[in-house]
Amino acid sequence: MRLSKTFIKTIRTAPKDETARGAIFLSRAGFIHKELAGVYDYLPLGLRVLENIKRIIREELNTIGCEELLLSSLQNPELWKKTDRWDIEKMDIWFRTELANGGELGLAPTHEEPITELMKSYLKSYKDLPVAVYQIQTKFRNELRAKSGIMRGREFIMKDLYSFSADETTHEKFYHEVEKAYLNIFRRIGLGDDTYETFASGGVFAKYSHEFQTFVDIGEDTVYYNADKSVVLNEEVLNDEVLAEFGVKREELQSAKAAEVGNIFTLKDKYSKPLGLEFTDREGKRKNIFMGCYGIGISRAMGVIAEKCCDEKGLVWPEEIAPFKWYLVGIGEAGMKKAEELYHGREDLVLFDDRDERPGTKFADAELMGIPYRIVVSEKTLNNGKLEITERKSGETKLIDIKEAFQP
Ligand code: ATP
Ligand code: MG
Repeated sequence: MRLSKTFIKTIRTAPKDETARGAIFLSRAGFIHKELAGVYDYLPLGLRVLENIKRIIREELNTIGCEELLLSSLQNPELWKKTDRWDIEKMDIWFRTELANGGELGLAPTHEEPITELMKSYLKSYKDLPVAVYQIQTKFRNELRAKSGIMRGREFIMKDLYSFSADETTHEKFYHEVEKAYLNIFRRIGLGDDTYETFASGGVFAKYSHEFQTFVDIGEDTVYYNADKSVVLNEEVLNDEVLAEFGVKREELQSAKAAEVGNIFTLKDKYSKPLGLEFTDREGKRKNIFMGCYGIGISRAMGVIAEKCCDEKGLVWPEEIAPFKWYLVGIGEAGMKKAEELYHGREDLVLFDDRDERPGTKFADAELMGIPYRIVVSEKTLNNGKLEITERKSGETKLIDIKEAFQP
């Protein structure tokens, strides 16, 4: 990508209506654009980050045998009435609208109801189970507070996965596979060091559900943890019974602010029962399918990464999700000529700052955008067959041979 050709421009001053530093950098660097409170557009660089996060999620979920599909965003109220979730009193975050010829419609906040209904056409016998399907999609929620930029949106991007098993044992096995896959995902997107699997309330269908909470100052949640962080509890399960079960004392626990980047739930027959999703078991008996659901807030995760991975100069993207790995700058006529040559054939890997700007301006933008490596081509080093490479994270600069540039 050539910076001279793109429409995006970096902005020197912070936008007035953002307070989170991650959100400020994302908009200053031209990754996102705010439409409304809690509603954002993803610009070319921001979209590349999102796509990288999605790619990692797909790789990890496909590895454990999940299949991707894409469900509709327009929702049939009849399904949600069956589970008692259409009522605004019960689900206060609905965005609902009316059809031109009368009747109501909902904009999907989540998809348990439609996926359960859909599976009635396909899952009939124990031979059809287990199955796990996921989608990556925009969700709509009329959140009372939309804050911290893309960390809580009214329109946001979620990965939601649903599992269908014949019995609890099969369900548990898959649930553990998802736990492992999630830890891989959070490590690969750069949140590994600060993301903990947290015990949360399981509702009526399981003892616990699990949240994946990333420690971050502007997080909306509070979690409690012991010295080695082997026990992390969310606020709703912090009671005497649970403390005893985990063998920890209240006064030994510390608290931290955290953001929920994902969660996993055992649903059992919460949806399969009211919607009538059944199968015939080996003995010919009809039973409700045992379900689980597993979410990841993709756009929230991107917001959390921006918030955590930055310094006073701007963003510092983890390598696997950076929009580009290299930011290329040519200095002087010979430097520009060589930079053009190096850029050729690497258009999708390199962000080439070919603008008619001073090197200082280019370096500042490279830092603001958080591209992991800056490569500077100048006459001075070229004469010795060398280039200058600077790591964004450490700020360290090295001279390398020209042919070593852009090595993975
Ligand atoms: P929260 O408690 O933060 O409102 P939730 O319990 O409503 O989350 P789910 O409905 O299970 O979350 O959604 C799955 C995931 O989607 C969450 O773990 C979170 O990462 C993300 N998510 C939920 N609501 C939002 C939102 N308004 N904006 C961005 N991401 C969200
Ligand atoms: Mg919520």
